[in-house]
Amino acid sequence: MNTTLEAGTGDDAVLARIVERCGPAAVVPAAETATRALNLRGDTFAPLPLIRPGNTAEVALVIRLAREAGKSIIPVGGATGLVDALRSATGREWYLSLERMRRIERIEQDSRVAVVEAGVVLQTLQEAAAERGLLFAADLGGRGSATVGGMISTNAGGERVLRFGMMREQVLGLEVVTAGGEVLDLMAEVLKNNAGYDLKQLFIGSEGTLGIVTRAALRLRPAFAGHHCAMLGIDLDHLPRALASLERGLGGTLSACELMWPEFIELMTDGADAPHRRPLGTRCEAYLLVEAEGGDPEGDHKRFVEVLESMLEGDIIRDATVAQSESERQAFWAIRNDIPRLARVLGGAVGFDVSVPIATMAAYVAELRAAVAQEWPQARVVVFGHVADNNLHVAVTLGPETEAQAKRIADCVYRGVTARRGSISAEHGIGLQKRDALHARLPAPVLALMRRLKSSLDPDGVLNPGKVV
Ligand SMILES: Cc1cc2nc3c(=O)[nH]c(=O)nc-3n(C[C@H](O)[C@H](O)[C@H](O)COP(=O)(O)OP(=O)(O)OC[C@H]3O[C@@H](n4cnc5c(N)ncnc54)[C@H](O)[C@@H]3O)c2cc1C
Repeated sequence: MNTTLEAGTGDDAVLARIVERCGPAAVVPAAETATRALNLRGDTFAPLPLIRPGNTAEVALVIRLAREAGKSIIPVGGATGLVDALRSATGREWYLSLERMRRIERIEQDSRVAVVEAGVVLQTLQEAAAERGLLFAADLGGRGSATVGGMISTNAGGERVLRFGMMREQVLGLEVVTAGGEVLDLMAEVLKNNAGYDLKQLFIGSEGTLGIVTRAALRLRPAFAGHHCAMLGIDLDHLPRALASLERGLGGTLSACELMWPEFIELMTDGADAPHRRPLGTRCEAYLLVEAEGGDPEGDHKRFVEVLESMLEGDIIRDATVAQSESERQAFWAIRNDIPRLARVLGGAVGFDVSVPIATMAAYVAELRAAVAQEWPQARVVVFGHVADNNLHVAVTLGPETEAQAKRIADCVYRGVTARRGSISAEHGIGLQKRDALHARLPAPVLALMRRLKSSLDPDGVLNPGKVV
């Protein structure tokens, strides 16, 4: 099989060759790609061809042809990423989507392993696991579109990290196509595997800059028999005590703990067009959405309620309402997960995804608000996040902000993060959006090592150029 291009062959000839080898469904023309939604802000993809291979061999072929033609590749999953990692940085890329690679190959019930193609959508995998009495533990608001490949490539976090870890902890094995078009079979199906360097870790969280994830072996767990959910009102001074009481009292069943400052709840529940109802009557400094999940519905529920009662009696929380039905539970989660409304209402809000130690979180947010208010009294600051994972999402908006203002806002947000040895990207990654901020803050030898890693795995800059490093 000869895939070498003739000198002087244009892009159209290469695309024609891809169609010839992979079929007409494999290439979406640039004009059509440009009508697809790129993000929650309503932007669309750049007018670049989108290649849709049907299997791993076709992915490898496309990468080889692209490299030989001097093209770069932007790998595309469900386009739910939040850091502009799918934006064209050079205008010379092709998109490569795994939307024709959505097969759940096997679910091994006894071994609790799912083997899937990387284009499988999270919700599809969750439902397939649930049908067999199993759970795929990673979960996030974009579940209806986010793909396994995208989640692996961003090391996605989400709502159950405090109990089950990030995507990295769900991956047993990977198949990856390298920038040279080689297929790496790293498809182990066991939890323990210290056989040499753990190469799959290189690709997890690398945002499509080191390899294309084509298949994965994923860890499953036994499904829960019940979910126990409540909305709590708290004073921020009591946050660390509240988290400690929940973790201790719920004995390993606590699986989600989401903190929302009042502006977040108001944005979701106040005003004529508000799609959600206020979950608590009492106005509090912050609100915690907590969920416990376990195998003994009655016993777990009793303990859940007892723990909340003792926290109320001990003045660790100010108010609590326990979801009495699945629809009430869904209503609490709908408030937390209505990120599309947040994006709509705040328009061009500058969005951050930072982490800071739990004990300093309240002080961090207070300092940030003061710094922003001093410079821009009209600014709106909305904060919420996966609090037990140290993770806060921060949106700051001045109305439309200029590029210079956006940079100064970022400095305000990151100052307190760096001072607390936190992270400027807790779970969303770097993409194009956070790249300059990352480079400005990484120690020089660390950035240099990242660049050496990139150039040794992708010397020609074929994979997602301009992102991360
Ligand atoms: C409503 C909403 C809620 C969200 N909540 C969370 C949350 O709680 N936690 C969280 O971590 N994220 C969250 N996100 C962000 C997003 O869902 C994740 O980043 C997700 O992992 C991206 O998956 P995707 O398939 O959409 O990837 P895309 O957005 O398509 O791509 C993301 C990155 O992965 C690369 N990529 C995609 N597929 C592959 C592949 N097969 N091989 C190599 N690289 C690839 C892309 O090039 C890009 O760099 C949320 C997003 C939305 C819209």
